[in-house]
Amino acid sequence: MTSISKNNLDTIKACRYCPMCRQSCPSEFISYKESDTPRGRAMLLQSVYIAGKEYDKSTVEAIYNCFVCGSCKSWCSGFEIGAYNIPELIKFARKDIVRKGQTLEVVESIKSSLLESDNPYQIVKSASFSQIIEEKKADVLYFMGSEINFRNPEIARAAIKIFNHLNISYTLLKNEPESGKILDLLGYPDEAIIKAGQIYSRIINSGCKKVVVSDPLAYDAFKNDYPGWGFKFDSKMKILHMSEYLAELVKSGSLELAKTTEKITLADSEFLGRFNAVFEAPREIIKSSAGDNFVEMRWNREKLLSTGEAAFTFNDRLFTQGDKLGEKIRIQAHDIDCTIIITLSATAKNNIGDHADIKAVDIAEFVAELI
Ligand code: SF4
Ligand code: SF4
Repeated sequence: MTSISKNNLDTIKACRYCPMCRQSCPSEFISYKESDTPRGRAMLLQSVYIAGKEYDKSTVEAIYNCFVCGSCKSWCSGFEIGAYNIPELIKFARKDIVRKGQTLEVVESIKSSLLESDNPYQIVKSASFSQIIEEKKADVLYFMGSEINFRNPEIARAAIKIFNHLNISYTLLKNEPESGKILDLLGYPDEAIIKAGQIYSRIINSGCKKVVVSDPLAYDAFKNDYPGWGFKFDSKMKILHMSEYLAELVKSGSLELAKTTEKITLADSEFLGRFNAVFEAPREIIKSSAGDNFVEMRWNREKLLSTGEAAFTFNDRLFTQGDKLGEKIRIQAHDIDCTIIITLSATAKNNIGDHADIKAVDIAEFVAELI
């Protein structure tokens, strides 16, 4: 039996009989199965790490059906004492599953796609936005993340419009590599570290003083994973999410947005908000233009509804039900009569989608439209 840390064991012991956060779990909302709840996962992991049972396919699926969104963590009063952290337990279990050679076919194919083409969707490398980039030395390095690079180039174009408008010296990475975060989340830390090493050298070689990141997963990796993987950025180098970067410019008076009369709300990001406490920056930007027309949804900040930023697979298939997560957010926005939902990741934008009465707009697009 693989050795498991005391914290992970404590999580299993506490969560296996506790129903208190299940209403917040987005994977349970997709499948309505007990095994897709926080408690269900803890019971399955108890069978492996306490009772000594082998992993079987249904247990492995339940572990990969978790979106590592941290909603259970936010709703758990026990987490205040640092004891019960299901996302950490899931990450441990996935690494163990991979070590034992029992991972799912779909997970293996995502891994191959990330290693070969820097995206999880089997899209050929030559289809990326970043293959047309002319990389240069610059003060700001803009890092898109694979979702924007392969599916949402309009967000990168909005960011470029802002940089040009402000005469910022910026660059992107030609053929931008994946940050390694998805590989790590899926249970492949060695491969993640190889990717991280490649990106780290390229960031350092760019001579930049700031890395501005649109993808919350990459942001979380740069801030929280890279130092532990041996890639610590100099303390003078700033890593900022696009919303933090733009909020600084708004606060300093370097960026002024036209006023909007649209009623606007914000879909908080799980990796930016829950795991990095970035909640206020996007609000400051939106309020600078919308004023009182900015309205909060019922579930916001720590209690945000998950946008699916780390939802990659479900029941041994690529995850394709992001619209169900987006629909829950749209309903909340509808309840407060908003017509625009500002998003902080391309995944959130895609899952919420464009609908007749409500549209999802990335924070960079929102700003680019109003300069
Ligand atoms: S995370 Fe907290 S609330 Fe959720 S099952 Fe575990 S102990 Fe209960
Ligand atoms: S991390 Fe999210 S998907 Fe996973 S068990 Fe917790 S609430 Fe459910």
